[in-house]
Amino acid sequence: MTSLAQQRQDSDFRDDSSDRTSQPVAASTDDRYSRQVLFRGIGEEGQRKLAASRVAIVGCGATGSSLAGLLARAGVGTLRIIDRDFVEPSNLQRQSLFDENDAAESLPKAIAAARKIAAFNSQIAVESKVDDLVPGNIEALLEGMQLILDGTDNFETRYLINDYAVDRSLPWVYSAAVGSYAVTLNVLPTETACLACIFPDSPRGMVETCETSGILNSAVNLVASIAATEALKLLVGGRGSPNLRRTLLSFDLWTNDHAEISATKPRPGCRACGERDFIHLRGEGRPHITLCGRNSVQIHERQRPIDFAELNSRLKPHGLVRHNDFVLKFWRDPYEMTLFPDGRAIIKGTTDTAVARSLYARYVGS
Ligand SMILES: [Zn+2]
Repeated sequence: MTSLAQQRQDSDFRDDSSDRTSQPVAASTDDRYSRQVLFRGIGEEGQRKLAASRVAIVGCGATGSSLAGLLARAGVGTLRIIDRDFVEPSNLQRQSLFDENDAAESLPKAIAAARKIAAFNSQIAVESKVDDLVPGNIEALLEGMQLILDGTDNFETRYLINDYAVDRSLPWVYSAAVGSYAVTLNVLPTETACLACIFPDSPRGMVETCETSGILNSAVNLVASIAATEALKLLVGGRGSPNLRRTLLSFDLWTNDHAEISATKPRPGCRACGERDFIHLRGEGRPHITLCGRNSVQIHERQRPIDFAELNSRLKPHGLVRHNDFVLKFWRDPYEMTLFPDGRAIIKGTTDTAVARSLYARYVGS
């Protein structure tokens, strides 16, 4: 009895409120950012600048998830999330935008991230790009962005971002975390050191990765918090913001060792920002097949649009296969192939590029 009366009251109230106010969203916006506007580094004007800002996050794994979550909640108006991968159970320990359903559905991370963000901030625009950032598409994928944030897990992509950013004089923030160690650098082309000033070549030999050394989720959140805050300073105060950090900062959360290396000036003779020789942007020596993570190979195809329904029925006799709108998965012991609509594939169960290539040719096409 009471509940029926209550229901009627509730629905009356809803009808009333929608008649009364034509902009119910505006009122909640003011409230949403009220604590951030109170912070004197942001203020009303800063909040308006954030709403008009356009930021790209390249890679939406652990660091990218945290960056995207922080900046989406802070009200950055447009976030473009670029990621080539799909959600797996082993991601859930640290990749804060994903849940068990995303992993069960093998959703592409860029799609799952946008869905999650829409649930807590539907007032900003999130552009999902399920793609591998490479020289051939970097211009299209980063067009119109005013700041690039690094959520990648490899130096190849970071050097590519660095070349692009230096060429366009766009600021970007390098971030990395492995084990309990976090490191980050703001790159302000022509003013500060770039990534190639500090690391002229990518580390050789055995390099620690999340696959070999593991990772603490707190190291990820630390580096993302620092990088996201530097992003806010840049978006609100511009490059002249006096509090922008001009060092390479590293911190080991387990041992408490920390260090800062000055990065205030470009290194004379730097290939990228000194000689403006953009070898990574030109894609020199870049393999079409790259290893990504443990025991898997990625195959890039230039453009091979795939009809999932058709391929699904073609693959059925050869193994377990299922698909949704975003990915098709095919299991053939001991391999697991994940295909994207543009023809890109990630093949698990081998690190041998020849094996991966032949599986792809046999089941998808050569
Ligand atoms: Zn440089």
